[in-house]
Amino acid sequence: MKKWVYLFGEVAAAEKYAGSWEGVRSLLGGKGAGLFDMTRAGVPVPPGFTVTTEACNEFRKTGKFPAGQWDQQLAAMKKVEKATGKKFGDPKNPLLVSCRSGAKFSMPGMMNTVLNIGLNDAVVEGLTKLTSNPRFAWDSYRRLIEMFGETVFNLDDEVFEHPMAQYKEQKGYKLDTEMTAEDWKELVSIFKAAFKKNLGFDFPQDVYKQLEQATKAVFESWMGKRAIAYRKKEEISDDLGTAVNIVTMVFGNMGDDSGTGVAFTRNPSTGDMEMMGEYLINAQGEDVVAGIRNAEPIVNLQKEMPKAYKEFMQITGRLEKHYKDVQDVEFTIERGKLWMLQTRNAKRTAKAAVKIAVDMANKGLITREQAVQRVTPDNVDSLLHPQFDIEAMNSAEKNGTFFAKGVNASPGAAVGQVYFDADKAEQMAKEEKQDTIMVRPFTKPDDVHGMIASQGVLTSEGGATSHAAVVARQFGIPCIVGASAIKIDLERRVMTVGESTVKEGDWISVDGTTGKVFIGKIPTMAPSLEEQTELLTLLKWADDISAKKDVREARAPGYPTRGLQVWANADYPKDARRARSYGAVGIGLCRTEHMFFEPERLPIVQDMILSETSQGRTEALNKLLPYQRKDFDGLFEAMDGYPVIIRLIDPPLHEFMPDEEKLLEEVITMRVKNESDGLKDKEELLAAIKGMHESNPMMGMRGVRLSIYMPEIVEMQVRAIFEAAADCTLRGIVVKPEVMIPLTGTVKELEWIQPRLERIASAVMKEKNVKFEYKFGTMIEIPRAAVTAAEVAGHAQFFSFGTNDLTQMTYGYSRDDAERNFLITYQEQGILETNPFQTIDRGGVGKLMDWAITEGRKTRPSLEVGICGEHGGDPNSIEWCHLIGNNYVSCSPFRVPIARLAAAQAALKHRPQKQASFVKSKANGRASKATPKIAKKPAKRK
Ligand code: PEP
Ligand code: MG
Repeated sequence: MKKWVYLFGEVAAAEKYAGSWEGVRSLLGGKGAGLFDMTRAGVPVPPGFTVTTEACNEFRKTGKFPAGQWDQQLAAMKKVEKATGKKFGDPKNPLLVSCRSGAKFSMPGMMNTVLNIGLNDAVVEGLTKLTSNPRFAWDSYRRLIEMFGETVFNLDDEVFEHPMAQYKEQKGYKLDTEMTAEDWKELVSIFKAAFKKNLGFDFPQDVYKQLEQATKAVFESWMGKRAIAYRKKEEISDDLGTAVNIVTMVFGNMGDDSGTGVAFTRNPSTGDMEMMGEYLINAQGEDVVAGIRNAEPIVNLQKEMPKAYKEFMQITGRLEKHYKDVQDVEFTIERGKLWMLQTRNAKRTAKAAVKIAVDMANKGLITREQAVQRVTPDNVDSLLHPQFDIEAMNSAEKNGTFFAKGVNASPGAAVGQVYFDADKAEQMAKEEKQDTIMVRPFTKPDDVHGMIASQGVLTSEGGATSHAAVVARQFGIPCIVGASAIKIDLERRVMTVGESTVKEGDWISVDGTTGKVFIGKIPTMAPSLEEQTELLTLLKWADDISAKKDVREARAPGYPTRGLQVWANADYPKDARRARSYGAVGIGLCRTEHMFFEPERLPIVQDMILSETSQGRTEALNKLLPYQRKDFDGLFEAMDGYPVIIRLIDPPLHEFMPDEEKLLEEVITMRVKNESDGLKDKEELLAAIKGMHESNPMMGMRGVRLSIYMPEIVEMQVRAIFEAAADCTLRGIVVKPEVMIPLTGTVKELEWIQPRLERIASAVMKEKNVKFEYKFGTMIEIPRAAVTAAEVAGHAQFFSFGTNDLTQMTYGYSRDDAERNFLITYQEQGILETNPFQTIDRGGVGKLMDWAITEGRKTRPSLEVGICGEHGGDPNSIEWCHLIGNNYVSCSPFRVPIARLAAAQAALKHRPQKQASFVKSKANGRASKATPKIAKKPAKRK
């Protein structure tokens, strides 16, 4: 009979079955695995057992518990009864349990939990006698009825909250703590009546029925709407299933010597090394997590319960060392005795993720490589997200637009329009494409969709461990909680602080870094990397990892084999300087045509295009030459010592001309109004533009074709490049220009154009009497160039994959149209897994790249290969570039830090693990040297 149920003590059996600790986490869920591990380590964990995720998956298929599960649960209950000396359903000495969800990857608040299972009309009386605490007993019972109704039978919270509010009002109570034992008893009757009225049957008195239904409810909550939405966002597979943890109840609401709390072993917002948490005296767990009652900071526990506090600090210290990561723990103190209910790796902000990883590596708790793997490219991305301009914030404060201050729960700047509920916030963000800020008194799991859709979140209640704070941190959404000065009127859809009022739809600015809220929009700015010392350290470690020699050596014989470098796409010196400050070690693409669009240059470019003779063109180009030389000069200076790839003109010429339709309109208007001044010029211009018209300009006269048709433009560009390089060399700057020819389809094109350009390069060097390293190469963006790479490499000294065009031409999808037409449908229908313009299509485009590198290097082993399409900043595509032996990826300066991390992570992921092991030969009992093997990744459990 298959084992569906494991007692907390059966960690060895679980490990044996699952094959690894990763396997145990899949089988028992993260929370379960944590409880087993803590039990093994001698941490005080209340006795209990876990029903496996495999049982959940069987249940999902059939709607029934798999054969044997329930019997195993009953047997496990007997063991727990033995361990606690209590009996389930026995009024004389009752055992109460909780039934908690727990998937492999934590999904805070997304699934169901039922507490106090085992109470009924008889047991509550017994518990009263046993504890001499009737208030506690009846309060616990009403909580069970409420949770059972809401989570097992999906009753609306209003069913219970409304009569409770009414009752308190009648009695003139404000707080729950004013309720007496008699009051709770009365409320139990009210709740039971409400339960029956809404469901048509009584609250179950059979405690085993309670356990069975709660277990089912937890299984079912795996496929609940909010759990599915959360998994989709977090890319967690629906196939994993949840485990169910049945844990002996310990009570934080047994009086003033009891309490409950949650804590992080380090600050999850900043990463600072300080215990951060909250607790409530005489309360049950959900009161703290929901953030409904404002809790006490954890340090106060030291005064209130010094013994429990000391033990708590010792245990959490041990847990952090054991898991080598920041822990998020839940605990309960029952009559002075500490119990640990949960430990898991804490969710954290991007800032904290980086700081914690670096601090832990510096302390030797983890290696630098582990530190690099702990931080995600998304973390780095959000650290480089805009922040409020300090000056603007200061002046907003002076101008009286400051609104309120709360707890800075999740950092970052958010500007948006206020919406007071999750559905509205989501709707306005999705349908109206608005930037929204979701404002609530506090949030619940049902609100997550609104939070995810919003730029920021603001609550007037709750602390740094409240639901809003935890979820916002996880998703990197700027968030302020507990801004208690704000009065939110959900009926009138306004919030006020004193005289200031913000209506639904008004703009506010939320600074999750300082906790300040402002009325109106505050401008944002890009953060500087220099001030983020931990991130700089981490990226330096990442570069060291990427720089190590690895498997790719075999794929790039002869080429200097340091690992994947990160270069940047930059057109102007200021971009190049930013790229350098973000750690780029080369420019992989300078799109020279961008420089032609500058206002003082465009008329000259247009003159050049309209000239009918080569001489006319040359005259216009001679005017452009100084501009271009200055552009390149600035780039070389910014990139002193590093390669700069300058691409020769690429787009079709009509892009530089006025819009045809607009011009036609002007001409018609002039004709109608009989205005003759300038009409002839406009008519001629219109005729010229019409003459340039192409049906498929992206496949027409552009790239190298244009250079062959009109070589004067690129001749001028090459002269400008080499004159600038020569001038810079004379000024002591080390230049490494690389001239890139776009859109090559056949090597014949290179044979035609390249020698002409090389002659200009030599001529300039001679004229200026200087020498420097340079290269001529091409973009690979037409499938034919990739297929014939061996020939192309005969001329090109480097390849750069223009994967925007290469994707367009491999799929035959117009890159300008596909995204707004059919691409979304294709993804929804599963025809495309991802957008191939964002992530390299490894099976098609990727294969062409792989082929091109292999073939190209057969002809020219030292061939330098890079990528300069949008994919160069995408972590998944970067991994592919690593695998096929690129020398560098080039991306927008803002993505350079992300790419540096992704490159190192790719290197670590694919580092060959040589295991030179000595295996004892069974035959003769002597050691024999086995062939080194590449370690296999453990098989993934579904
Ligand atoms: C490309 O095609 O990937 C590329 C970088 O060139 P562009 O986007 O300018 O066509
Ligand atoms: Mg291109």
